[in-house]
Amino acid sequence: MSKILVLQITAGFEGMEQTIHPVLLQDEDVLVLVDCGFVGSLPLLEAAIRDKGLSPEQVTHIVLTHHDHDHMGAAAAFKAAWPQVKVLASREEEPIIAGIAKSLRLIQAEQMQALLPPEQKAFGQAFMSLLNRVEPVAVDETLAANQSFDWCGGCRIMATPGHTPGHISLWLPEHKTVIAGDAMALEEGRPVIANPQFTLDMAEAEASMHKLLALPVQTIICYHGGLYRPAEHRDTGSRRDS
Ligand SMILES: [Zn+2]
Repeated sequence: MSKILVLQITAGFEGMEQTIHPVLLQDEDVLVLVDCGFVGSLPLLEAAIRDKGLSPEQVTHIVLTHHDHDHMGAAAAFKAAWPQVKVLASREEEPIIAGIAKSLRLIQAEQMQALLPPEQKAFGQAFMSLLNRVEPVAVDETLAANQSFDWCGGCRIMATPGHTPGHISLWLPEHKTVIAGDAMALEEGRPVIANPQFTLDMAEAEASMHKLLALPVQTIICYHGGLYRPAEHRDTGSRRDS
């Protein structure tokens, strides 16, 4: 028996609350955590795992969809506390996650800082200092597009570039589910490009989101926004009575 469990973590930054949705893939052999929350959010993450009746000690793998602070922020702390865990990320994101290459998000934030209007400069500064506090973590295994695992009856790594160049999503055909990461977000229940102002390649991001929407799945789990059920939006005409 295998299960997909969606976690929910809420934390604040500069007076704004944000809710994120890391995911656990559970079967007889593995407990895979997909994305792992903000810098400093390890206790919240551990509590969210325990709320599902599981222990962080049981987590075998962490898959990082990309290097953004809200996805890898607690990865190094998690690995330090629970060293049995193996960290997986795409080949393109690996050097950034491991601290070998500079964060593309930090480079972007530094470039944008000069262009920000005076009233936004303090926020820009706080954002850069947050990015500088992200602790790198060694990647134990790199992932390639279309690579498959037998987790939860089968899990396919999908390349979904745009938000960052090496962004990945996870497709679980047996569960008719996709874990989108930031390849898609929800706003008032509708699919949108996550943080378009920070998207590194807009055309690629659009293509990636449409690739996910075209998959034969019942559920798309968005890190920002939670669950999206494509079928509920497909029939626009008549409502089925059952
Ligand atoms: Zn994000």
